[in-house]
Amino acid sequence: MITVEHLTKCYGDFTAVSDLSFEIEEGHVYGFLGPNGAGKSTTMNIMTGCLSPTKGRIRINGHDIFEEPEQAKRMMGYLPEQPPLYMNETPAEYLRFVGEAKGLKGCELQRQIEEVSGQTKIEQVKDRLISALSKGYRQRVGIAQALLGNPKVIILDEPTVGLDPIQIIEIRDMIKQLGENHTVILSSHILSEVQAICEKVLIISQGKLVAFDRPENLEKLLLASNGISFTAEASREEITKVLGGIDRITQWEIEMREDELAMISVKTESEDVKDICRELFFAFADEKKAILEMSSKKANLEDVFIELTEGGVSEE
Ligand code: ADP
Ligand code: MG
Repeated sequence: MITVEHLTKCYGDFTAVSDLSFEIEEGHVYGFLGPNGAGKSTTMNIMTGCLSPTKGRIRINGHDIFEEPEQAKRMMGYLPEQPPLYMNETPAEYLRFVGEAKGLKGCELQRQIEEVSGQTKIEQVKDRLISALSKGYRQRVGIAQALLGNPKVIILDEPTVGLDPIQIIEIRDMIKQLGENHTVILSSHILSEVQAICEKVLIISQGKLVAFDRPENLEKLLLASNGISFTAEASREEITKVLGGIDRITQWEIEMREDELAMISVKTESEDVKDICRELFFAFADEKKAILEMSSKKANLEDVFIELTEGGVSEE
């Protein structure tokens, strides 16, 4: 549906987006996840034809966004990070203006305005000035304009930024609904948001694509973070022998303390960390070696994100 090939954008000497390649398939909700400054907005602006790349190619259903902009743009609705709303217009006037710019006319324009107003639940405020609307309603108007023309792909840049918790839930629910009939791409620097809404996640850090997978697979990616730490009364040799007998333990570190106790941390690719804890317990008990303390840690998307972006997390 959307093919991005070797996309690079430089601002002077600064490379904001570096050799980004990926493919978006029809009918899923995708999330661009990355700290502030990662290059999410730059990528979205280029994908929608609002900004030209330094290098690279974007095709929407086979149409190059710069060679055949009309066909390509017709398939996309875009809500930029700063929605271009006219404060002294009403949503009804604004949607009419955007609809006309998208080539809609007459009854069809009216029908679509009603449809998108219903989808984004802005009917009650459609005749108030946009300047008098809350940020949550303004964002809905922004999404409504993106939906005009019934584009296959909806691209939303940080759609929940600056909203209060209730508005965030409403907008997220709306996005999930849109995902039933559209391909949706949204950006966010909030992990839990992407985890809650998206089926596929692209993690972008310093202009580079560092991961592209389902949220649940990204958790697996950092297998090394699934770990167990424990303290045992045993020698290094004894511990090595016991651990060597447990298949699902892939790596370990042993630190001998002065009081003859060993601090051990093990890594496992196994999903079931509790089960490994049990196995460790009985394996040490069989050797008559006591485990005095044990704790486990299961990797989540947060760990993957921090690992992949090398700690460059935003101030959220
Ligand atoms: P994100 O949306 O992930 O926060 P952006 O795409 O907005 O990131 O920005 C990526 C990087 O490019 C940032 O370091 C930003 O400062 C820089 N940048 C963005 N737009 C411009 C511009 N017009 N001129 C110079 N640098 C820019
Ligand atoms: Mg941005």
